[in-house]
Amino acid sequence: MTVKSSTTVQVIESLAALKNWRYQLEQTRGSDKRPLLGFVPTMGALHEGHMSLVKQAVEECRHVIVSIFVNPLQFGPNEDFDKYPRVFEKDLQMCRQAGVEAVFHPPVQEMYPQGQKDLTKVIPPAVLIQHLCGAFRPGHFEGVATVVAKLFGMVEADCAYFGQKDYQQLAVIRRMVLDLDIPVKVVGVPTARENDGLAMSSRNVYLTPEQRLLAPVLYQTLCEVKDQALSGAVPLPQALEVGRQKLSALPGVEVQYLDACHPQSLAPLTQAAHEMVVLVAVKLGSVRLIDNIIVGA
Ligand code: AMP
Repeated sequence: MTVKSSTTVQVIESLAALKNWRYQLEQTRGSDKRPLLGFVPTMGALHEGHMSLVKQAVEECRHVIVSIFVNPLQFGPNEDFDKYPRVFEKDLQMCRQAGVEAVFHPPVQEMYPQGQKDLTKVIPPAVLIQHLCGAFRPGHFEGVATVVAKLFGMVEADCAYFGQKDYQQLAVIRRMVLDLDIPVKVVGVPTARENDGLAMSSRNVYLTPEQRLLAPVLYQTLCEVKDQALSGAVPLPQALEVGRQKLSALPGVEVQYLDACHPQSLAPLTQAAHEMVVLVAVKLGSVRLIDNIIVGA
């Protein structure tokens, strides 16, 4: 069976069932001016960060669908695809409580029936993916753009919600929608944080208690760089370098990047601007953490 009903949320596992659900929804469009369908693509292991996207979608749209799909295409050979957390029943309960109407949870075979090797892919422009996370995760953004393009085609949502936490991903998706004329409105949602500033992430569960105590330093460093750069007291490159050194000096921390970029083009900045985004990625032991802070945009 491919469509399972619970009290209020439908679990949809096949493309055929999704199309059927979507067709029936379309019949209800009528003259209501609100967006008919909001879409929140995720890889599951949902937390309050994901739920802030869902909440906004529920507020803005008449119906909301969440996808839960751990996409093999966006994981490198040495990354954590196999051990990525999968807690479907808990995710479902969170979706149900939040007022989500359908959860699309396809098996890999349903998403890639022709296999993953000889696949038509979406290649984002190099200027967006050759640096930041793209430099450390070859093929990652092709995998993301490809699966999101497929999901957009399948779900046919009016609005799709993405977190600013994955800032480069959001820029890639916005650009893809523009370049490929995909009829969906992309909505960026601010990063949800723990009380100590740590950006919520499905990977935070892998942090040891010691690493968890250390992790908020990422956001603290971003705030310091922002404050220093905006005060004009320290040139931006120097503020970034001080931040890198501070992070590198911490036990078990390997800094991948700490950079400032233009918020739309992601072009690296060499001096502070009124609109910029400061982005960081570190490995804390074996856990990769990313975060960013947006200035003025
Ligand atoms: P993921 O399941 O990691 O692929 O994330 C699914 C969506 O949730 C993406 O658009 C993420 O940017 C977003 N997201 C993840 N963590 C957060 C967070 N802490 N705050 C806001 N959005 C988030």
